[in-house]
Amino acid sequence: MTPTRPLVALLSIVALAMGVAAWWATRESGFSIGPRPDRNLLLITIDTLRADALSSYGGAASTPRLDALAARGARFTFAHSHAVVTLPSHASLLTGTYPYRHGVRDNNGYRLRGDPPTLAARLKQAGFATGAFVGGFPLDQRFGLNAGFDAYDDRISEAAGSVDFALPERRADAVVASALEWSGAQSAKWFAWVHVFDPHAPYAAPDTFAARYPGNPYAAEVAWTDHALAPLLDRVAGMPRPTLVIVTSDHGESLGEHGELTHGLFAYESTLRVPLIVAEIGGGTRPARGVTIDSSVRHVDVVPTVLDALGLPPDASLPGTSLRDLVGRGGGDDRPSYFEAMTATLSRGWAPLRGVIVGRDKYIDLPLPELYSLERDPQEQQNVVTAGRARAEVLLNTLRAFNVAPPALPGEETSAVRDRLRALGYVGGSPAAPRDRYGEADDPKRLIEIDTLLHRAGDRYQNGRFKEAAAMFQDVIARRPDTADAYRYLAFVYWQTGQRGRAIETLEAALKQGVSHRDVRVKLGIYLAESGNAPRAIALLDGLAGDDIEALNALGIAYGQANRTADARATFQRALDVDATNALAWQNIGTVELRAGNRERAGDALGRAIALDNRLAGAHTALGVLLMESGKPAEAVEAWKRAVAADPHELDALYNLAVTLAEAGRRDEARAYAERYIALAPPEIFGRDIARLRSLLGSR
Ligand SMILES: [Zn+2]
Repeated sequence: MTPTRPLVALLSIVALAMGVAAWWATRESGFSIGPRPDRNLLLITIDTLRADALSSYGGAASTPRLDALAARGARFTFAHSHAVVTLPSHASLLTGTYPYRHGVRDNNGYRLRGDPPTLAARLKQAGFATGAFVGGFPLDQRFGLNAGFDAYDDRISEAAGSVDFALPERRADAVVASALEWSGAQSAKWFAWVHVFDPHAPYAAPDTFAARYPGNPYAAEVAWTDHALAPLLDRVAGMPRPTLVIVTSDHGESLGEHGELTHGLFAYESTLRVPLIVAEIGGGTRPARGVTIDSSVRHVDVVPTVLDALGLPPDASLPGTSLRDLVGRGGGDDRPSYFEAMTATLSRGWAPLRGVIVGRDKYIDLPLPELYSLERDPQEQQNVVTAGRARAEVLLNTLRAFNVAPPALPGEETSAVRDRLRALGYVGGSPAAPRDRYGEADDPKRLIEIDTLLHRAGDRYQNGRFKEAAAMFQDVIARRPDTADAYRYLAFVYWQTGQRGRAIETLEAALKQGVSHRDVRVKLGIYLAESGNAPRAIALLDGLAGDDIEALNALGIAYGQANRTADARATFQRALDVDATNALAWQNIGTVELRAGNRERAGDALGRAIALDNRLAGAHTALGVLLMESGKPAEAVEAWKRAVAADPHELDALYNLAVTLAEAGRRDEARAYAERYIALAPPEIFGRDIARLRSLLGSR
């Protein structure tokens, strides 16, 4: 017997125990969302990101940064939005309520009001600094999502063109740079919402990413977006205070599935299901072991989860519930989810689409109802509504527990508006929707060809094939004469190609057909104002403009033309009350003041317009006129050159440059601008100006 043996044994036991302890110490614990008031919140919404697009969800795009969040946090594999277009879906996400509660049913014509409060309003009240950085026009502050945000950066130039076919957007790296600057300047805890728009059509990723995904431009956009978010995630990971990060999308993208090219018409899983990742980074938090949750969860659960995670009291009036328990247990009860797609109802008079998901079953309430078992049929290829009648009945009753009243139309006609339309010679029927009953012919499944035709016509327009685009819109109108947006698009094509009379006739024809949708009336008012028909424009827009920025700007222009300067000022001010950063309203104020001879006020307003949006060609043009009138021709020429650089189609600036340079004897320069003007200006409207430039230059 040797005395050393027990000691050796003892040592080895100690070593073993220490090893176990060390193992326990280094073993990652599972991710959990404990209540913790002193943390930041970073909400990242990636527009149009399909649930299966990230590589952690099996997608084709390489998305290492977002996958890393999923690996240390909670990744939800069966999460759903409640709407399939940007503004209504974000309104649900940020208020924690369904669309029928917050009232925003489409991207156009609606504005989020103060009730229900947004997440930003709740967190601001709880002492958080709040900042939003958005990348797409549908989330412009004019639509009301800015409520509760200290900073709302929606600097997206609208100068590039109309929102009719391509929504103005700002690239993800620019959005991220702005969020970096703001978050770096905060000392208190903060809530930042970062919205990036890049995966939205058109799919045009930077070249290096596009080259990596030949034949899959959508995946290229997704990979690029992941890359663009990296600097923000790196910065936040290095901050002393931990940050709860939530990543999701507002809706997916069909990419041709079920015959749908993009999103907004149907609510199949390709557009309704969204990714959802919750993780914590920064503040020295060690990476946790990621958890994957297959239970069904919803966007309305996000606000309650945030309140829970930040140690704030729950709000029993909200329909969702915190995901904390689900994350802690790795799963739990499925939550029924309501969804809708109202765009085609509101703009085309097609049947409204609503539905519910209960467990793995999905019911879509349409004239031709649909039932899918997503467990057996995740692609939704087999409508089992007939065989599964009993189950469909249960789901229909679940749907009825939500609010299925028809959506309130934006800008519904008052009798005064109707009378005015009649006085103008427009019959002014009732708006396209909603009706009491819809037949099978109104089911969007039966109308997918028309949707495709509208998309293809839009593509033709963007590729400069205007005649083909116009013919396709006419075809849609012939097939379905109540398609309000076909008239609007057709008129837009005419307008952009200089056929102003036909543009106005097209919208007048729609009104006479009884298609008196608000967008049609507003657009007609805008075109009348811009073609100098102030009395008719005022008659149409007065009382209709509401808080529609475009309509208010057009109405103000019409007042200006009618020399009603005070009304014009007040109307542009109304536009600024809706959206204080609307550069166009400042440009219009500048123009009205310039016409009224108030140079100082004009200069101030134009300066503000340019500070807000340096690419606003009209503001540079007006500033040039102001400088010219102030006896500064050299500076005027520089201003007009900036106008033409911002928009090569800025006719007023081209004309002014040609005349001013010719009179200064700079004939070669003048000729170049004159030739551009002559090539671009529609002779039916600008015939006299074209003739003047021709004689000025002695050309024939
Ligand atoms: Zn969207």
